[in-house]
Amino acid sequence: MDDRQILLETQKFHGHKCWASTAGVRAGLAALRALGVERSPGTQLYGIIEIGEDHAAMCFGDGIQYTTGCTFGKGNIRKQPYGKLAFTLIEKSSGRAVRVSYKPTLQKQISATPFMQKRAAGIYPNEIPEDEVMEPVNLIWDAAEEDILKIEPVFESDEDFFPEVMGFEPCARCGELVALPYLRVANGKHYCIPCSDYDR
Ligand SMILES: [Zn+2]
Ligand SMILES: [Zn+2]
Repeated sequence: MDDRQILLETQKFHGHKCWASTAGVRAGLAALRALGVERSPGTQLYGIIEIGEDHAAMCFGDGIQYTTGCTFGKGNIRKQPYGKLAFTLIEKSSGRAVRVSYKPTLQKQISATPFMQKRAAGIYPNEIPEDEVMEPVNLIWDAAEEDILKIEPVFESDEDFFPEVMGFEPCARCGELVALPYLRVANGKHYCIPCSDYDR
């Protein structure tokens, strides 16, 4: 897949076109290239993203997920919630890692676009004309890498990775499947957390 195709696929997955998911794609591609690795088909790569909850531009995270293959579904990504558009990519086999962050260079220009003005007024991206939608996307997409990204030197990660626990068992009360590490024991029987007396 060429870079432009990755952007288009990300937009399909993400649900709309926006500057922050575009910044995530650019940051993801830069990190893959810095480590000399391919998008993670399984859990070969691990990502730590620094976006938090309930703030603008969290869309950055979808760009990272699609581009690097570090996804919440596969469990090879986690949030270190600092509210920052930054992430660290780790190659698990070698421990080599790189942190990439989005620079503020273009933010004034992006905030001034009609798209962002409308977003600030509460209009959804899908209700904004295509050419206005693409303006901030293209600003990020066409920018030189050094203008929008800070790519730190590759370093040795001290992250520990544990093997995945396989297997499920039905809860003795509700009958629903529960992953083994989440079963709780009471009277010699195995229960899911909501059916047990434990709160976690
Ligand atoms: Zn978005
Ligand atoms: Zn249950």
